[in-house]
Amino acid sequence: MNSSYDSIVAQYGKYGKKLERAWQLVNTQSIKLHRFSPSGRELWTAVGKEGDQLVYEEQPYCSCRDFHYRVLGEKEETCYHLIGLKMAKQLKAFDIIEFDDEEYPQILAAILKDLSREE
Ligand SMILES: [Zn+2]
Repeated sequence: MNSSYDSIVAQYGKYGKKLERAWQLVNTQSIKLHRFSPSGRELWTAVGKEGDQLVYEEQPYCSCRDFHYRVLGEKEETCYHLIGLKMAKQLKAFDIIEFDDEEYPQILAAILKDLSREE
């Protein structure tokens, strides 16, 4: 893993402390892909200190407080969950959990319920 860490630092070093927290997420297999078939629909979550977060790389969006207050408030560029998600995809270091499309509303509701409990 050392050589991949070096390239990660080269790429994400500018994020400082966030880089370390993101790397922790990747190393503890905390980035999870919930994949639904047959649609291929994907939901990504990051299990951080503050509980599960729903993360969308393309938007970009994260359900954590940091994202809401600092990123949307234009104080920060991104949060560590989003960095972790990018790293995990790059290193292919994430858990894949398979579901049926029928389960999608349930899974999404379960994740959102988790989130509201954090507030
Ligand atoms: Zn976040």
